[in-house]
Amino acid sequence: MTSNEIKTLDKQHVMQTYGRFDAVIERGEGATLYSPEGKVYIDFTSGIGVNSIGYGNKKWVEAITNQAMKLQHISNLYCSQPYAELAKQLTMRTGMSNVFFSNAGGEANEGMIKLARKYSFDKYGKGRSTIITLVQSFHGRTITTLAATGQDVFHNYFFPFTEGFKHVTANDLSALDAQLTDDVCAIMIELIQGEGGVLPLCQDYVQAVAKICNAKDILLLVDEIQTGVGRTGTLFAFEQYGIMPDVISFAKGIAGGLPMGGIIAGGKCSAVLTPGTHATTFGGNPVAAAGALEVLRQLDEEALKEVSKKGAYITETIKSWNKPTVGEIRGKGLMIGISLNNLVPKDIAAACIEEGLLIITAGTDALRMLPPLTITYDEIDKGLAILKGMI
Ligand SMILES: *Cc1c(COP(=O)(O)O)cnc(C)c1O
Repeated sequence: MTSNEIKTLDKQHVMQTYGRFDAVIERGEGATLYSPEGKVYIDFTSGIGVNSIGYGNKKWVEAITNQAMKLQHISNLYCSQPYAELAKQLTMRTGMSNVFFSNAGGEANEGMIKLARKYSFDKYGKGRSTIITLVQSFHGRTITTLAATGQDVFHNYFFPFTEGFKHVTANDLSALDAQLTDDVCAIMIELIQGEGGVLPLCQDYVQAVAKICNAKDILLLVDEIQTGVGRTGTLFAFEQYGIMPDVISFAKGIAGGLPMGGIIAGGKCSAVLTPGTHATTFGGNPVAAAGALEVLRQLDEEALKEVSKKGAYITETIKSWNKPTVGEIRGKGLMIGISLNNLVPKDIAAACIEEGLLIITAGTDALRMLPPLTITYDEIDKGLAILKGMI
């Protein structure tokens, strides 16, 4: 099928819920993508942080193929090796206690919210179920995670939303303090707000929040769905903030392109979700878990250092252009936001696609890069050359 035929099918038969860019992708290699007609794109998006180890990664393809030939799914009523081994890797590398596997980010956050409310219910009874989240956050598209999301644009149409969420301005301790009533059971944050604009939280603020949580037995929930799995140069971003969250959620990059998410709980939260309180049919799928094990194998200390180096290289290169249209460059590792002066990010992203670069936006003012963590310097240079001509 040609690109035009595919676009026609999309328009005729698919709910038009996405403001899609004008590109049809057929296959990829490394961090380079190809349309059905052979048009080449450098990929600075990795499917929004999903294809963490690139396209056509041989060992990853082998791992998921071998697993698919053995066992593609088994109910969570039975045990199998891939998810069990993956849970061991995730707990060992985070220093946390145990894992619940889901299929995507929103579902992972739902589990994290349920865990927080049950932790509090078990210990303190009813009436202590409010969760504080931050303005400009993004936590998902389910009714409850929309309610958790601290952006008014997400609070339309779908009333009634789930009760029990309060939003406070990020990096403002007195704003948080003013909302810390006796009904609060948890604070949920992204360490770098992704969809909100690639906005990193201040280290001092995060450490103070962790201290308050600890003192009041309020759970610190960290949404690492975008920042996790090596994206910021450590396996999870919390490692760079000098804190130990009670629960973290992950998804996007974990399985290298297959749907998987989940939550990892620390010691005091490890026995909250008990038989019958939480479940999912597909969570911990063997093929996705085999892919995730290979992703974690490839994201060793060396590879994570490379992520930081490549991130610094991109940032330094863009700065060296001295473009008046470039404002702040934000983020960590290969999660980079470039705020633009007097340019509309969406228009720039669309123009870049014409020239062969996939790049996305964040918030209202920024372009966002989330390339495969395995992107080569050659691919980075090619992508940056296109970007340079567009901004
Ligand atoms: C993408 C994202 C989600 C939602 O994940 P889905 O897999 O789309 O449900 C939640 N939180 C953050 C921080 C995200 O980046």
